[in-house]
Amino acid sequence: MAITIVFANQKGGVGKTTSAVNLGAYIAEAGKRVLLVDFDPQGNLSSSVGADKTRPGVYELLTGSIEPRAVVQTTDVTNLSIVPTTSDLTGANVELVDQQRREYFLRKALAPLSEDYDYIFIDCPPSLGILTLNGLVAADRVFIPMQCEYFALEGLTQLMESIRLVQKRFNTRLVIGGIFFTMYDSRIRIAQQVVREVIGYFGSKVFQTIIPRNVRLSEAPSHGVPINKYDPNCVGARNYQKLAEEVIARG
Ligand code: ADP
Ligand code: MG
Repeated sequence: MAITIVFANQKGGVGKTTSAVNLGAYIAEAGKRVLLVDFDPQGNLSSSVGADKTRPGVYELLTGSIEPRAVVQTTDVTNLSIVPTTSDLTGANVELVDQQRREYFLRKALAPLSEDYDYIFIDCPPSLGILTLNGLVAADRVFIPMQCEYFALEGLTQLMESIRLVQKRFNTRLVIGGIFFTMYDSRIRIAQQVVREVIGYFGSKVFQTIIPRNVRLSEAPSHGVPINKYDPNCVGARNYQKLAEEVIARG
């Protein structure tokens, strides 16, 4: 059975997708079987591994119109696979709203794939809507990437409320698996202050590795490969590798 981890933060541009793909790549490199699930209609995760978004993907998986394994695509990284998004997922957003037990669609859809993998990573859109809710209900753990800026803390209360609601009503297994900082720039004084405040509040939930701002990380997606296949020696790569080691060590 896979450990299912959802990357959630209703803020856009905090590093959800970048973290899902690069952590996935390094955990796969360490010999674990990893399945990425692109649950954001924007499809950035799919593009980041060069997946074919014209083939059946997560929408077909959700609706059960296809055999689950048929939507999985392999990537250039050994042990790393993906269920890409499909543009129809935008429609699913609307369709799901009227369904009974609409919070459980992704969880049900992923269940038959769980035994094939050690980790399933779900990448969410930047909102706390029905798609992210499905992601939280499907997961064992939630990972929260945060940018080191003042406004990062403002959204956190809302996210915590959503997590508590899911824990109470839909998924009692869900725990906060970890919080980590991305795009860190030590020259910005507020960055250190934000890190201190978050550690003060969440304690050991905060991963020790901090991902620095590194332009190579933002270039890799345009080549359709994770950072380990683009520039494995850059500072961003080395830190995602360290973070991956922490994730594996937490079990
Ligand atoms: P989200 O999925 O939360 O919206 P992304 O992972 O797409 O965020 O990141 C937003 C933008 O920032 C993307 O263009 C990405 O390439 C870039 N980016 C992410 N992490 C870093 C980093 N550590 N250093 C530099 N650029 C980054
Ligand atoms: Mg994203």
